[in-house]
Amino acid sequence: HRLTNKTVWQLDNVEKTLPKRELFDHKGNHGKGLIIGGCKEMPGALSMSVQAALKSGAGLITGASSSPVIQMIAGNSVEAMYIPLMDTDGYLNNHSKVSFAIYDAAAIGMGLGRKKITQDFVAHVMNTATCPIIIDGDGLYHLSHLLPDLNARAYSTVITPHPGEMAMLLGVTIREVLQKPFQYAKDFAQTYSVYVVLKGRYTIITAPDGVQRLNPTGNAGLSKGGSGDVLTGIMLAMVMQKQSLLDALCNACFIHGMSADLLVQDQHSEHDLLASDVINGITRVYRAIL
Ligand code: AMP
Ligand code: MG
Repeated sequence: HRLTNKTVWQLDNVEKTLPKRELFDHKGNHGKGLIIGGCKEMPGALSMSVQAALKSGAGLITGASSSPVIQMIAGNSVEAMYIPLMDTDGYLNNHSKVSFAIYDAAAIGMGLGRKKITQDFVAHVMNTATCPIIIDGDGLYHLSHLLPDLNARAYSTVITPHPGEMAMLLGVTIREVLQKPFQYAKDFAQTYSVYVVLKGRYTIITAPDGVQRLNPTGNAGLSKGGSGDVLTGIMLAMVMQKQSLLDALCNACFIHGMSADLLVQDQHSEHDLLASDVINGITRVYRAIL
């Protein structure tokens, strides 16, 4: 695929679009975000998204999960708030109703698990969220059974699949996605009027109108469990800052990859870089670019 300078999101694009913190700002200016995820097998996924969103500059972050998951992770990010949701045997069920009135954006899916009972809760969120939502991880598995609900949404939706999840959503093979990633991402974005962040070595960000950009940052130290959960947290924070939604998604991908790139230059190797390190590395990205 031939790439023009226009489609590759570069450092100067980030510097031009990323909003600065203003002298008279208060936390309300930087967004109230809700992050729904976790199950008994994967409590850490929610934790990493919450921490990454806070570290990226979100005003207020609330994590929502089962009580045992919240108890396990609450100490990791004492700045966050938490909402306990109903679960069946460690997996979120559809008995909880979430009110979205106070949130500026939400993310759902990280470490949710793939139980049918959880699918009905994901449907509830998609049908009632009166704010932009980011759907990631197991949320995308549930989404593959809920595509009509995607068409019906009146607010922006962002999906963040890796090639395996994109293939599942499209009903094609991973090989096919990798052969024509730009085409598949654009078709899905236009068919369902959603933003598609197709993750990989070069992440492709596609808007519902078919505009596509490419993120150049990142390295193989990110090819580990947890990397995607960190990206979703950064993305939620970016979506709530004063920038266009497309710019926010590109800036999130750029910051995520740049954190990993700075860390492997002088602090870590690609072998030992952990998703938690990438969260801490956001500090270095902001010091370098702001
Ligand atoms: P996930 O598969 O959901 O954990 O997401 C993985 C994240 O790490 C995505 O943001 C990918 O773009 C990124 N990533 C994984 N492997 C690489 C790689 N080899 N080079 C650059 N980024 C990568
Ligand atoms: Mg993932």
